[in-house]
Amino acid sequence: MTLTERDKKHLWHPLTQHKTHPETIAVKKAKGVFLYDEHDKEYIDGISSWYTCVYGHCNDYILEKVQQQMRTLDQVVFSGFTHEPAVKLSEELIKILPYNQQKLFFSDNGSTATEIAIKMALQYHFNQGEKKNILVAFEEGFHGDTFGAMSVSGLSVYNGPFEDFFITVKRIPVPNGENNDEILNQLKKLTGENKVAGFIFEPLVQGAAAMKTHDAEGLDKLIQFCSENNIITIADEVMTGFGKTGKYFATDYLSHKPDIMCFSKALTAGLVPMAITSCSQKIYDAFYSDEMSKGLFHGHTYTANPIACTAALAGLELLQSDEIQENINHIVKLHQEFNKKIKSHPKIASTRQCGTIYAIDLNVSIQRYGKFRDKLFNHFIENGVFLRPLGRTIYISAPYIITEKQMFKIYQAIDSAIQKIV
Ligand SMILES: *Cc1c(COP(=O)(O)O)cnc(C)c1O
Repeated sequence: MTLTERDKKHLWHPLTQHKTHPETIAVKKAKGVFLYDEHDKEYIDGISSWYTCVYGHCNDYILEKVQQQMRTLDQVVFSGFTHEPAVKLSEELIKILPYNQQKLFFSDNGSTATEIAIKMALQYHFNQGEKKNILVAFEEGFHGDTFGAMSVSGLSVYNGPFEDFFITVKRIPVPNGENNDEILNQLKKLTGENKVAGFIFEPLVQGAAAMKTHDAEGLDKLIQFCSENNIITIADEVMTGFGKTGKYFATDYLSHKPDIMCFSKALTAGLVPMAITSCSQKIYDAFYSDEMSKGLFHGHTYTANPIACTAALAGLELLQSDEIQENINHIVKLHQEFNKKIKSHPKIASTRQCGTIYAIDLNVSIQRYGKFRDKLFNHFIENGVFLRPLGRTIYISAPYIITEKQMFKIYQAIDSAIQKIV
């Protein structure tokens, strides 16, 4: 029996309707930009396995560091204990985060990172004797699949069964440059009764909304308003963090900095799961007290796992290397050139780019997970390219180590998909 056949017996996959879903592909190994299936067919990983493996799969430098750490210290409780990898990571990460970020709180994945950010924002007010119970979020945002994270994500049929249990959330559209004042006024109106505890957003690019981009200046004004009105701002950089937008973080494009930031995905370079919620001194100080109950009573068993911290440290070193920075700049240019050639194609409705992220909306109207989308997906797979179209949007977020030739293979697969399928 193949792995694909054995898989069906006991496994339940994420985000999958097993009755209608096509076959899963069994991946045997991965190296650099390539995934290899059980029949040794290779695929270029055009989305860095959900934006994680940005330095390439099974990166030798990261593996070496992690192997050493595994022999030294595997796991220890992070409540009452500390260790070198966590301390070092805090020192190195704080150096490149926006200047106001001072404290790091660890967890396991992007959803828990935002869940913790939400709890920080709510308890920040609670600790000061204020009851604020509304959160503001962008329409079509995505912040994860746990309850708090689902609540602040955009409404979707997938979350329907749980809506009755959600936190109260008011949603505003993203600023697009032309509607900035209007969006700011919407936010002002929502905050009229002084019940808004926080505002959570994916800065500049909304990944799950098919890489929708918005206006940095517009977002900056929203953050400024929140800062002046005691509304805690949360930048969810789980997808955008660590170089994807061309800078270390999407918030580096803003002049007003968020109070809280969330990281995961590329944080550990795709090796092991981990997440961090960082915050400013102001947030930390609101929990610092002689009263036990004012602390943040949240914790996960594997908090700040030394192996995960080591992977993150090695990733940070690579990110800041000249080589990776040059690669990132080169990808930005390749996308710009490809975009020039393709953007006015009649079968393309629009294109957009933010740093190393590039997206194309096709000129068709279809469902997010419909048959057309599967046809596109299969076309890429047949051509040895792993891309994961969302509805009518094809997007690329390839590992930074991708070569020009490999990127051209992705572009060619997109070209031929447009000729043959659209
Ligand atoms: C992926 C993602 C999450 C959720 O992270 P998980 O690790 O899948 O729980 C949250 N926010 C954003 C912006 C994401 O892209």
